[in-house]
Parts: sequence; structure tokens; C-alpha cells
Amino acid sequence: MLTKTKIYLSSPHMGVSEQKFVADAFSTNWIAPLGPNVNGFENDLKEYLGDNKYVAALSSGTASIHLALELLNVSKGDEVLCQSFTFSASANPIIYQGATPVFIDSETDTWNMSPELLEIAIKDRIEKYKKPKAIIAVHLYGMPYMANEINAIAKKYDIPVVEDSAEALGSRYHNQACGTLSDIGILSFNGNKIITTSGGGALITGSKSLKDKAIFLSTQARDNAPHYEHSSVGFNYRMSNVLAGIGRGQMEVIDDRVEARRQNFNFYKSNLSEYNSIKFLEEPNGFYSNRWITCIKTDSYNQREEIRLALQKDDVESRPLWKPMHMQPVFKHCLHFTNGVSEDLFNKGLCLPSGSNLSQDDLDRVLNIISKTPNL
Ligand SMILES: *Cc1c(COP(=O)(O)O)cnc(C)c1O
Repeated sequence: MLTKTKIYLSSPHMGVSEQKFVADAFSTNWIAPLGPNVNGFENDLKEYLGDNKYVAALSSGTASIHLALELLNVSKGDEVLCQSFTFSASANPIIYQGATPVFIDSETDTWNMSPELLEIAIKDRIEKYKKPKAIIAVHLYGMPYMANEINAIAKKYDIPVVEDSAEALGSRYHNQACGTLSDIGILSFNGNKIITTSGGGALITGSKSLKDKAIFLSTQARDNAPHYEHSSVGFNYRMSNVLAGIGRGQMEVIDDRVEARRQNFNFYKSNLSEYNSIKFLEEPNGFYSNRWITCIKTDSYNQREEIRLALQKDDVESRPLWKPMHMQPVFKHCLHFTNGVSEDLFNKGLCLPSGSNLSQDDLDRVLNIISKTPNL
């Protein structure tokens, strides 16, 4: 009997040139958090994102969010409004800065930050405490958030927006790249993301001086002197030149990766939408998702669990949607503005295997297991 291999949710998918760029780093001895691959990777990203942005390659998406908050002078006593329906790394850097997160629930069209709740929260905090210092909005699973609405509110109250685009490289909003829609955008190149450097991230800004400051702070904040002179506290957050080599190879195949993930979504949708109890997140007009992960929403917690456990039994990885931050033990005490949307998604939603390297046999195997779930 053939033994079946495990199917993962989202696994790394190398192209052809990654090893060549890494070998270049070795042969030139640029084994450091700077070098030609770092500059090359930043240029590749800059060209891909367009809109005259500046890109700083950093050690992770989490580090990039942390640095963004540092650049916006978020500090002790400040409140930061953060999308509740996300991965914890969106919110943890608020705590690193000694500030306090306030969580905002989602709307049902994109599953991202509700502009309505955002404005209610801003008014509430201004009235009862002080103006929040920043907003962190997330393009979750690759689906752009309602950027026009969020940006309009942010502008009205003059609060900067950090755009967590960790899951959305390749997504577009009215033809503009996700990551470039706000004051500071961030990307992640962790192993499970649409492209990977094994671990890495980037900060995107429209200001050259902000990029320079990000690089200064990410390389231990050394002042200009022959000895080590410091007038501010720095971080060790720059990307390694070895890993940036992987990134350069991955940027050669980014379009294929997006296409493959979108095809996964289309496959699942065209084969599963005959079942009344399985719903997919559609792209609103002008929204283009990289479909990093294909998510389904079922009718009930029990039904979701039935599907998840049947997949698990056959060695297929799937996962409930993100547990909202306002429900996490670590953030339970934090103020939140909720409407039940993210809690409902957490209870009934499931992430399906979505790697760009899934074979047709893999996809058929997943589909076959789901189709056999009773009472769909
Ligand atoms: C992955 C991810 C991050 C963190 O990125 P790392 O590179 O893993 O530190 C932040 N936010 C979201 C939404 C993510 O999915």
C-alpha cells in the first residue's frame, strides 16, 4: 500500500535562483546583516510594490511592526488601536513599547477592521482618555482591508496607520499594492508566508528619511563616529545578506506564487460551493487578494470540527481561523470594541491547505475528505 504524505497548510516553495544568490553571499564572504543581496532584495521589493516607496529589509515581520511603532514614537501611556482578528504578532509589539492595545472587531465583507467600530473607539478614547497614538490594520489571509474608509477616519483624527501586510504581498487594493496604502507598511517572509526567506520582514514607507531612520535603529543606532557612540537605544533587526539571497530568488517567482494560490481558492470554491453550509470570502469590487490561505466558513462549530478532524485523520493539516486577540488569555484585560464577527469566524471558520506547491492529487485528496463530511 502506498503511504500518503502529509499535506501542510502552507509550506515553503523555492524557485530556481535562491541557491545561486546564497552561494554568491558565501563566495564574496558577505555573511552579514548587510551586503549586495540585502540591497538587491530591497530594490526587487521596491520595484514590485511601486508608488515610489522605500523598503528596509529586516529580521522579521514582528520586528518590522515593532520598529514602525518606535518610529511613530509609541510609548508608555499610549493606546494603539489594533485589529482583533489577527495573529498575535500584530499586537505584541504594542506591549514591547509599554503601550496598551485596544482591540477593534471586523466587518463581514473582508473580515478585517470595521471602520465603523474604529471611529466609535477613537471617539470613546478621546472622550475618556486621550487620542490613540496609532492604528494597526491587517490584510488578513491576503484580503485587503477597507483602506479608503480606514484612511479617511485616520486622517480625520490625525492618527497614523501601520499596515500589517504580512500575509498580503501580491494583494492589491484598487490596483495599488498592499503594504503601500498607509503611513508605514510591513511585510513578513516567515516560512509559511507567500514567499519566504526562512525568516525575515520589511518596513515600507513613502519617506526616505524614515527608511534611513529605520535602518539606523535596526543596526544598533550607531552615531557617526570612529568609536561606538550611541545617543539613542537601537535594535538588532536588520536582515542577513544570506537570507536576502533567498528573497531575491523568491521575488523572481512571486507572480507564479500568487497565481497558484488563487487557483487553489478557485478549485476549492468551484468544487465546494454546491454545499450550502460552506461559504467563501469573495473579493469586493476593486479588491484583489493573493489568497494566501483559502478559508471557509461553515454553519457551526461542530461542523467545522468534523471537517478539521476528518482532515487530521488523513494527515492533512487545516486550522481554525485566528482566535481574536480580545479572546486571548494574554490580552483578556484589554479594552475592546466588538460586534461578534471575529468570534463567529473563529468558531465556524477553517483554513484549508493552500501552499503554492500543492499538486492536483493533494487538492483532490483534500476535496474528497471534505465532500464526505455528513450534512454539508
Ligand atoms: C506572520 C505574521 C506576522 C509576523 O511576521 P513574522 O515574520 O513571523 O515575525 C505579523 N502579522 C501577521 C498578520 C502575520 O501573519
